[in-house]
Amino acid sequence: MDQKTALVTGAARGIGLATTDLFLEMGWRVVMVDRDREELAEAAGPRQSVHPLSVDVSDPDAVATMAQAALDWSGRIDALVNNAGVADFGPIEETDFKRWRRVMETNLDGAFLCTQACIAALRDTRGAIVNIASISGLRASTLRVAYGTSKAGVIHLTKQQAAELGEYGIRANCVCPGPVRTKLAMAVHSQAIIDAYHDAIPLNRYGSEREIAEVIAFLSSDKASYVTGQVIAVDGGFESTGVGLPALRG
Ligand code: NAD
Repeated sequence: MDQKTALVTGAARGIGLATTDLFLEMGWRVVMVDRDREELAEAAGPRQSVHPLSVDVSDPDAVATMAQAALDWSGRIDALVNNAGVADFGPIEETDFKRWRRVMETNLDGAFLCTQACIAALRDTRGAIVNIASISGLRASTLRVAYGTSKAGVIHLTKQQAAELGEYGIRANCVCPGPVRTKLAMAVHSQAIIDAYHDAIPLNRYGSEREIAEVIAFLSSDKASYVTGQVIAVDGGFESTGVGLPALRG
């Protein structure tokens, strides 16, 4: 019961799996949540001190059960990482309501529902919430009407959670990753988008899952005990720049 526990959604692969591994290195236990049952079982199988739960974070009933199942296993939740996400890039005119809802229900509803379900447990530990948004929630771009808007919602949701949950000692922060070569990104990043990112990022490269996980783990830990309501871009400098980089590289 003394061992800290993180609940990470979207933990079967990508940034969520790298975050799981970092928590394990820190000596925490991890409740790994994902709706992809097969990939989750494969990821959890070889790892010690993890508890896989196959849950769709956009399903309110399943999420309520998830929180109880997590507590039954660990007795405590010290950090909730709302990382599960889907991407769908398309022009506004082609983004019908079904596509819009598919993105919103995981990216925004999921973070809302999981947090609501874990508030009581997080109050007991004076724990932390880390929401994963995106640079697409900080700056608008083409094709991202649903994805970018969902992530802008996650950014504001974080500030709302920090404002309202601070008096319970619960901290809420948001990480906005730049591009990382995961399954999610590679499904929507064309070669033109990859080239444009390289041009627009001062560090001139994609990030790694581990580089994102390091910031998530810091914000979840006591090292960040006076940090709440913050939005941190882990993006190689993308958010900080304006015009000029492509000309410089040319
Ligand atoms: P990924 O596709 O590799 O992993 C996402 C995981 O979430 C998958 O295992 C998937 O099964 C799970 N998932 C999706 N919807 C779910 C749901 N409704 N319920 C439960 N699990 C669900 O993607 P990733 O790149 O590791 O993305 C992780 C987070 O980082 C996402 O929120 C994404 O929007 C964000 N992000 C990623 C990038 C990037 O370039 N990779 C950039 C910015 C933000």
